[in-house]
Amino acid sequence: MLKNLLILSCFLLVGCGMETASAPESKPPTTIMAVFAHPDDETTVAPILSKYAAEGATVHLVIATDGRYGVTDHAGIPAGDSLVEVRNGELACSCRALGIEPPIHLSRRDMLGMEQGMDAFFGQLIGMEDALEAVIDSLRPEVILTFGPDGDSGHPDHRLTADVTTELYFSGKLNYRPELYYFSYTPTQAAKYGDWKLNYADEQFLDTRISFSETDAERYYDAIRCHQSQFTQQAMEEWIAAERADEDKRIFFRKVVLAGEERDGF
Ligand SMILES: [Zn+2]
Repeated sequence: MLKNLLILSCFLLVGCGMETASAPESKPPTTIMAVFAHPDDETTVAPILSKYAAEGATVHLVIATDGRYGVTDHAGIPAGDSLVEVRNGELACSCRALGIEPPIHLSRRDMLGMEQGMDAFFGQLIGMEDALEAVIDSLRPEVILTFGPDGDSGHPDHRLTADVTTELYFSGKLNYRPELYYFSYTPTQAAKYGDWKLNYADEQFLDTRISFSETDAERYYDAIRCHQSQFTQQAMEEWIAAERADEDKRIFFRKVVLAGEERDGF
């Protein structure tokens, strides 16, 4: 079950790209930070990370957990520190392929201590928020990306990493105010991987739609191929083939915005 969740959670994707639906042309961000749960979750938005990096932005990838339970039959690496080491190497490979900064590890435990009881679980969440606050305040990204409430596959680590990121954002603890965006698949994109039953958001709720180039896509495919402990060669090539077949090279996000004025009723 866990393995299936992890596989689902991390295979995603689809073709997408990004532009703000109705926002005026604005200066592109110079620093972007993506915050996800597992080493390989970055593949969800990989073409966009590559795109902005190629255009000159500094792009950071923050991964909350160590992925120690991402055991697969084909890799044969047992759960634990040896798998963490392998996956760290795979994530670094992915960042190089995308042309972004080396990964930042918050080094929370895969599954966030849920298997160890409530005290451990709460401790993992608190530790994640504290570590993330320090990283954001230090690097001061103008744009932060994370999962929407759907959490791609719905994996609890995905949902909780996005939840902690959102909680931190709304807490006012950060020493400045970046923009926050949630990544989600559209129903069409999720259907590309019907067997995986990926979650999605309706397009009407995804206001930022970013296009990417074939060059960005090729870097994304190279990033996929880094994660050899998670996907068989055949699975990776089938995934890439599905992406190549998708002509709609866009990735969709929802920008977190307030109403713009205080109101005294619904
Ligand atoms: Zn994942």
